[in-house]
Amino acid sequence: MSSMLSLARPDILELQPYQHAAWDPSLERMHANEMPWRAQGDNTGAGLNRYPEPQPRALVERMARLYGVPANRVLVGRGSDEAIDLLVRAFCRAGVDGVVICPPTFGFYKVAARIQGATVAEVPLRDGEFQLDTPRVVDAGRRAKIVFLCSPNNPTGNLLDESDLVETCQALSGRALVCVDEAYLEFSGRTSLVSRLDELPNLVILRTLSKAYALAGARCGALIASEEIVGLLRRIIPPYAIPSSTVEEVLQLTEAPQRAISAERIRTILSERERMRTRLAAMPAVERVFRSDANFLLVRCRDARRLLEAGKSAGLLVRDFSSAPRLEGCLRISIGAPEQNERLLAAVERT
Ligand code: PMP
Repeated sequence: MSSMLSLARPDILELQPYQHAAWDPSLERMHANEMPWRAQGDNTGAGLNRYPEPQPRALVERMARLYGVPANRVLVGRGSDEAIDLLVRAFCRAGVDGVVICPPTFGFYKVAARIQGATVAEVPLRDGEFQLDTPRVVDAGRRAKIVFLCSPNNPTGNLLDESDLVETCQALSGRALVCVDEAYLEFSGRTSLVSRLDELPNLVILRTLSKAYALAGARCGALIASEEIVGLLRRIIPPYAIPSSTVEEVLQLTEAPQRAISAERIRTILSERERMRTRLAAMPAVERVFRSDANFLLVRCRDARRLLEAGKSAGLLVRDFSSAPRLEGCLRISIGAPEQNERLLAAVERT
């Protein structure tokens, strides 16, 4: 067993996975207690009367191509949220093992850990630039099973220094997994850490179609890691996790023409991000606009409540982080279409 698998829960390593109905499209299905007819009006390719393929091969291969890795290193889940949940459940024994998070960061790492009964050690990002406090992260990681790092980080927006990510992985090799969440990478100009997977066996990467590919409603994300880790998670993912309608839609909506449009839209988001940043930074109601490598801006306001209300009165919802530790007065604004951004800027200007 690889040293990384030896970090997994022993009972999960021994678990006999659920035996789902065999997948053999060359035979007619009388083995899964499905109805033989489609529901009236079901125009899907596969038919929703049929259970979907477990880890649908075409979708896994598409995600593998999108992210430049072999298919046996990809677990497809219902968004990267599902991957986070599976990872915690596979590696953390309730009441015994734990995870490390670096707040302020994406909230679901902590929630997934708590649901599993895992402990949560917090090593805050360094004040000012929101970068890793690498020695403290490594120290806490030695007593944990998984270190969650988010780059670009949500909600602060900045990339974490790549050298810190690599150093953390190296220092925790054989001791803990380092899960780098690249949900917003497409907006950053940085290349993925997938190219380092061979040399960093404890590295786990999360990607999602929810942001750059405009498919949040399809619920489709990927966990990319060593074949052993992916194999273990495939044993515990619910048997028919990905709906066949999602498979069909995602395959259709991630073809070359859609990818070209997506790349064009990312360029628009980046120029709008810069325009919003400059305009907001010049407004008296705004104290600071933080550097962003994502599709949102973290903005420290003189009166967050007033800006929130101003947005609402213009019909726009932004996210309030003003009561989160170290984010006093902060709102997170997703970059919208130019017309929406303009409307928000006008509303803030009026406050
Ligand atoms: N990671 C980060 C950093 C996020 O911000 C989000 C969603 N807001 C997710 C993961 C989850 O994304 P999804 O489940 O849609 O793939």
